[in-house]
Amino acid sequence: MDQTLMTRVLVPTLLDDSTRPLLGAQVRSLDGQTMGTTWQVRWTVQASVASVERVHAAVQAELDLVVDQMSTWLPGSDLDRFNHAPADTDHTVPPAMGEVLQAACWLSHESGGAFNPAAGALVNLWGFGPGPRYTDPGFTAPSDDAVQRALARNDWRALRWDGANRRLHQPGGLLLDLSAIAKGYAVDRVSRRLSAMGLVHTLVEVGGELRGQGLRPDGQPWWIELESPPVAHGQRPLPTTRVALHGLSVATSGDYRRAFTHGGVRWPHTIDPRQGRPLANGLASVSVLHAECLWADAWSTALTVLGREEGMALAEAHGIAALFVQREPDGQLSETLTPAMQALDA
Ligand code: AMP
Ligand code: MG
Repeated sequence: MDQTLMTRVLVPTLLDDSTRPLLGAQVRSLDGQTMGTTWQVRWTVQASVASVERVHAAVQAELDLVVDQMSTWLPGSDLDRFNHAPADTDHTVPPAMGEVLQAACWLSHESGGAFNPAAGALVNLWGFGPGPRYTDPGFTAPSDDAVQRALARNDWRALRWDGANRRLHQPGGLLLDLSAIAKGYAVDRVSRRLSAMGLVHTLVEVGGELRGQGLRPDGQPWWIELESPPVAHGQRPLPTTRVALHGLSVATSGDYRRAFTHGGVRWPHTIDPRQGRPLANGLASVSVLHAECLWADAWSTALTVLGREEGMALAEAHGIAALFVQREPDGQLSETLTPAMQALDA
């Protein structure tokens, strides 16, 4: 079959047949802005449950909680206060931020520091944080000296994360950045909150990261198409991948989303914290499917940093369902699927 005309269809191997579709019911949706991006929620209307206003208030409350604790951009967020705290001080973080830090520090360890919640100084230096932005006129890549200085403030182990007590150490000048995981976590929170309100058929999205529960009123799962890099002139298009988000989340990290070009080099917004520089491993994107959106989000960033070979090996070792899109030396795009992703191929 001609690859270019193909559609790949991924469905979860464990189907939850306890949730019956509400055949013929209406689907409602709400959307808005958060975390410098957009959110959208769709749900199947159930007679007994929740007005649109109540759903809106619940979604907003969950999103606001994540922003109030974990935003790099909001002065006075728990994260911002930690980042500005004096050297050699210890801090207790609120439970939600604790959940995210627990996952972030675990993945930092597993990925040998490819994923790094302490990369804020590097993220800022390369213009992807608050402060001078890569989009500002005249913005240029930083000097080697500046990179070395930021690298010295980028050791996640110096946080001495104590999960049992939710304690965190500020060695001085260390900048937390949870942007690679917080959106996914927000999606999970919204999804769980709606389900606690009795809404079991929902599709939740924040900035392209999604989680689907239950079924649509036509009995179908919530189908979504994986994001893929734009195809340049002369490139063969990749197959379209459709996913049944039934008790499943998806996140994509990609070099085409936010990047700047300097001296003929394209610098994506994901940093290799081991090198102190934006990635240059030729990966165009990594999509990860996982029951929890927090993990889909964090893994997609980690695997992007690791690159195809190392990333495939680590994802396989952990049974992670991932799809890598690589820019090959001949200019073409190619796809590689982990065994767990192949197992979903219907
Ligand atoms: P994502 O789009 O989920 O891959 O997250 C990218 C964002 O995470 C960037 O805009 C940075 O704020 C932050 N970031 C960049 N590099 C890393 C990294 N290696 N580990 C953790 N967070 C990172
Ligand atoms: Mg991510």
